[in-house]
Amino acid sequence: MNTRVVHKTSAIVIHSLDYGESDRIVTFYSSDFGKIKGIAKGARRSKKRFSNALEPSSYCNIIFSKKGRGTLALIEGCDVIDHHANIREDLHKMLLSSYLTELIDKFTLEGKKNIDLFKLLLNFLGLIDAGACSEALIRFFEIRLLRLAGYEPVLDRCMTCKKPVGEEVIYHFIISDGGLRCNECHRNNPGSLYVSLGTIRTLLLGKEIDTARINIITFSEQTAKESKDVLVGFIHHLLGKEVKSFLVLNDIQKMGILSSQ
Ligand SMILES: [Zn+2]
Repeated sequence: MNTRVVHKTSAIVIHSLDYGESDRIVTFYSSDFGKIKGIAKGARRSKKRFSNALEPSSYCNIIFSKKGRGTLALIEGCDVIDHHANIREDLHKMLLSSYLTELIDKFTLEGKKNIDLFKLLLNFLGLIDAGACSEALIRFFEIRLLRLAGYEPVLDRCMTCKKPVGEEVIYHFIISDGGLRCNECHRNNPGSLYVSLGTIRTLLLGKEIDTARINIITFSEQTAKESKDVLVGFIHHLLGKEVKSFLVLNDIQKMGILSSQ
């Protein structure tokens, strides 16, 4: 029962931490096994086995073995497919990628495969690496992640009367319920936010639009604010706490020292 089974998979590094003198504890999100947490023994010494692949956002092929559920995997080898080199050289890109990978970490459990989540992360890291750091990219990632993780907010109709959006200009998003109410059904719920029809339509578009076209979407100031309040507020509500890398990204963006592309 205690034999180690060896597996191979493609995976993205979502977290990496030095451990002891030469080891690393690494969390991956993989195409075949979902989230994997493992130890890479001697990782900081053995360039041959790990070829400096264990940096956050790296896309690689890994070989690992595991004894059973709940145990740390032993990462035996790792080959880089794509380092996402541009992300590593740009603070804005790095902070943004950290936010996406932290969200994947927070919304997933170890050992549960979800190939669509894997593709989502890989595609969006590719977009960041290729040059985009837009509000649209962040919000569209959040809404797609929520859908794939089973927490899709209700944005296409009023949760109470079920009327499809489009008949009114202003709606209310109820954070604790994860959906919209129209003006008629709204009853001053605590934690409700005004959302304009334009913002709702943009977010609905963001769920479906081809990834390659995300770069051409620009948010108005109002849509940027409303969509951030709705999605970040809902994510914090679901997790029961704020996401650390979001706070860092937000602070740095407010200071205005990053370029927006
Ligand atoms: Zn209604």
